[in-house]
Order: sequence, then C-alpha cells, then structure tokens
Amino acid sequence: QRARFPIAKRALPAPRGVSQPTTQRIRRVEPCTSYGVEAPMATAIGIDLGTTNSCVAIARRGRVEVLENKYGEPISASVVHFGDGGASLVGNQAKALAVQDPEYTITAAKRLMGRYFFSEEVKKAKAVCSYKIVEGPNHSVRVKVHEQALAVPEISALVLREMKEIAEAKLDQPVSQAVITVPAYFNDNQRQATRDAGRIAGLEVLRLLNEPTAAALAYGFGKGLAQRVAVYDLGGGTFDISILEIGSDVFEVLSTCGDTYLGGEDFDDRVIDLLAEEFQAQHQINLRKDRFALEKLKAAAESAKKSLSVDDEARIQIPDVATTPAGATLSLDRTLTRAEFAALVSDLIQRTFKVCDEALQQANLTVRDLDGVILVGGPTRLPLVREAVEQYFQREPKTDVDPDQVVAMGAAIHAAARQGAGS
Ligand code: ADP
Ligand code: MG
Repeated sequence: QRARFPIAKRALPAPRGVSQPTTQRIRRVEPCTSYGVEAPMATAIGIDLGTTNSCVAIARRGRVEVLENKYGEPISASVVHFGDGGASLVGNQAKALAVQDPEYTITAAKRLMGRYFFSEEVKKAKAVCSYKIVEGPNHSVRVKVHEQALAVPEISALVLREMKEIAEAKLDQPVSQAVITVPAYFNDNQRQATRDAGRIAGLEVLRLLNEPTAAALAYGFGKGLAQRVAVYDLGGGTFDISILEIGSDVFEVLSTCGDTYLGGEDFDDRVIDLLAEEFQAQHQINLRKDRFALEKLKAAAESAKKSLSVDDEARIQIPDVATTPAGATLSLDRTLTRAEFAALVSDLIQRTFKVCDEALQQANLTVRDLDGVILVGGPTRLPLVREAVEQYFQREPKTDVDPDQVVAMGAAIHAAARQGAGS
C-alpha cells in the first residue's frame, strides 16, 4: 500500500557529520490470535539505547509502561564506570563519577558504535572524550579501561544489561527478548554493532527500530491514516530531525538530518560558562580548573536548566565551592531567570532549524506539507524550545507523551506486537 501523496523519490543523502542513512520501512505486526491456547505473557521489552540516557518500557494488557530503575527513575544515564577491581557501575550513579574519574567513566559510547577508528566522527570524539580511544582489529574502535581494551558493543551491552535487569526486577520474571531503537541514519555497521551489544547483554533482538518511527508508533500513528510527520529529537548531545511518511502500517523515513554535537549538554555548558565567569570576576578563582568545583557546577547547571522547564526562575546554590588563598570558603548563590537562560541558548536552538531546513529540502517538502510534529528528547521539555519549534513548523507540536520516554514506549509497543502477545 503506497501512500497517496506524490513524493519525489530519491536516495537519502548523508546527514551532516554522520554516515549514510538507511531507509527503514516497518510493517506493524498484528498480534496473532490463538484459539484454545492462552497467549504467552508479554515479556519482550522495548529499549531506547540513547547517547545520553536509556529507557526501558513494556506494553502489556493494552497499556504501555515505562519501567523505573530501583531509584524510581524512569530513565538512566547511558554511562558506565569501571572501578579498580574491574567491577562496573551503570546509570546515573556512574554519571555522577564522570568528573571525578573521567578516564574510566565511559559516556556517549553510542557515538563510537560501528565506526571506523579513522572516521571523522571518531576523531571528533577523541578530541572531546576524557577516556582513551584506541584502534582495534580491522580499524575498529576500542576503549582503554585499566588493562583492557573493550569493544564498543561490550560497553553498550553493559547499559543494555542494566535495562534488562531493571525490567526483570520490575516484572519479577526473566526477560530475554527486546526491540532496541537506533537513529534513523545508522548504517549497517552501526546496526550490527547494536545487535551485537544486545546479544552480549543476553537479549534476543527482535528488531532494531528507528527512533523516530518508535516515537510515531507511541503516538498511535500508522492506524490507517496516511500522514507525514516531523520528529524533532533534541537529546543530551545530539540533534536529529526526521521526516516520516506513514501509510497504513508502513513507516518510511523520507529524510533524516542531524548534528551529532548539539544538545542539552551544550545548554548546560553555557550556564557553566556564565557562572564560572562571574565567579572569576568576583573572586579571581577559576572554578573550571578544580575538578570537584566543576562537577558541582555541572550538576547545578543541569538542574537549573531542568527546573526552568517548569519554573520562571531557578536558584543556583553551591555551598563551599571554592577556598580563597587565605583559607576562607566561598559559596555560589545566584538566580537564573528564563529570560537570561533564553539569551544564553537561543542561538543553539536556532541551529536546529538550519538542520530542519535541510531535512525538509531533502524530502522536497515545506512545513505546510506536514500533518504533525512530534517532540522527542529531554530538552524539548523546555517551553523555550517548544515555542521555537511551534514557530518554525507553524503548528503546535505534540507533547502528550513524555519526550524522553516516547521512544522506549514505541519500542515496547512494537515488541509486544512482534511477540504476538497483544498490543
Ligand atoms: P539522549 O541524548 O540519550 O536521547 P535525552 O533525550 O534523555 O537523551 O536528553 C538528555 C538531555 O535532556 C540532558 O541534557 C538533560 O539535561 C535534558 N533534560 C532532561 N530533562 C529536562 C528538562 N525537564 N528540561 C530541560 N532539559 C532536560
Ligand atoms: Mg534519544
């Protein structure tokens, strides 16, 4: 069944800074009806394996549930910390160690997935990463951790295993099957590396689903109506825009563009810069040079940013952030308003729309040809971002589903359908 609108068909050009994208058409698999036999309990999970955060969900009894970790958090940082004894810590606790123990705290491993050591992306990652990236067999990438050189899927497998264990703890039963999401632009190598990570984590990967497709599934697209939607995904360190054409049960990526170094962390950096500059002007102390002070600044900046998605201003208080040469302790206390924050980050938000221009151009469409815009990614909780998106696309974006959980939820819906246990 082809969609009804006339679309100029063309190969997808590679988005800026990323490898050749692949078009994925997915067919919704209807749950099989069984007669006389009770359908098996749905245990196939959906995992959003993100660059910054990961999330696991399950669809059962007609509902989609995000499964929280043991701290009651719906999302966990895609960060792995390797301790001296070789033991690893995964998630938000590991993220908290990133500043203290940068060499052995692996963040954003997804950027290295299925990439060649000599690729531009890996060169860029090497320039910003605090851990050691070395060359492995066949020009692959390895991460040096203590005496070991780990393959990237081995690191992502630890994140996936954590997600599997979160699900098992929450469901109180073993989980062995999953649908894992990947960016629409992931090439065969990157997809294979993600599959390998799933296998190492002890998961049978039912399917790799494109992230924007998963988001559209979570919004119930694909139930007959032919539509075109844009999925605007601003994450922690990456921005992706995808234009999808959705026919009945067929999801097609018309174009996908992105910036692999643009996301919520850049917002944090702007706040950190402001705080550090003001502190230096006042006390002649550079907080960025002190690991522990920088860690506190980072945490404070991120939490201020997050609270600005609900409040008009955020109070930033960091007690005992530094010590004067005379031995007196200094604290930081400042209120950041939405307007100040907007001035700090608006150019970053505007940069996303240049990428949107490109994606629309590639799909041969204008914003008027779209039937909807879906928001994905933590920073899209900011009213500032929502307003800018609304202005650009000339329509109110869809925000009913939590933007940092929507991808995992779509993956869960697809997992349940694949498993045939009722969606
Ligand atoms: P990923 O890049 O893995 O897809 P997410 O979509 O989870 O990551 O986005 C992570 C980013 O979202 C982080 O920079 C985080 O600070 C930001 N974020 C999370 N919640 C909020 C919020 N309420 N307001 C603003 N930014 C948020
Ligand atoms: Mg994401």
